[in-house]
Amino acid sequence: MSKLDDIISKIKVHKHFYNFNKKDKESRGILPNQPIEFYIKRYIDNLSDFTKEEMNEITNMCKKIDSTGYLVEIKWQFMKLNYDSTIEHGFPHTFDDIIILRSNFFSYDKKIQFLLLIHEKTHLWQKRYPHLMDNILIKEGYEKVENNMYDIGKVIKKYGAKIIPATNMDVLGVWCKDNKIFHTHYVGDIMVENHPYELYAERIASELSDRLI
Ligand SMILES: [Zn+2]
Repeated sequence: MSKLDDIISKIKVHKHFYNFNKKDKESRGILPNQPIEFYIKRYIDNLSDFTKEEMNEITNMCKKIDSTGYLVEIKWQFMKLNYDSTIEHGFPHTFDDIIILRSNFFSYDKKIQFLLLIHEKTHLWQKRYPHLMDNILIKEGYEKVENNMYDIGKVIKKYGAKIIPATNMDVLGVWCKDNKIFHTHYVGDIMVENHPYELYAERIASELSDRLI
């Protein structure tokens, strides 16, 4: 089985997609009556391997990043997604231990390309070692909302939060700081931004890419 076939078979059954709430679906162009399989098919149909030339270019950049010693223990693996703003909002992202980049990756300037690679690799590390990431956030004053606290009433009571968390538990965890709740699902009409995992990936990517360019 090729890596592409392997990832496709995982996408087909992954709980991430089946956990979408109404707003998650809407933002991906999934109509209320459309089954989630419709979206999964669109995702899969747009996925491919990079060409040899493209892969060479990415590999050279990865070597440059590796020369800094950053997360060398985590393997670089990539898939290409045809640009379509309705698939995961058109953003580069990770699935399992694979970085999924958009087909227009090479049209960005080098600095942005480095930024994206480091950012997504940081997410692979966060997914593999969440306890390490969590320890960093706790030192930065964040408080993790435990699973058993993941009840709207309880969360508001404990944190006095103004923002009501969505009903889906997120793999990145739900966090609180300064009476604000951070998570990656839609709440009413807004997607709660600046999840601390995201802020951390942005910060590291910005610092490291500055050194590479
Ligand atoms: Zn990110």
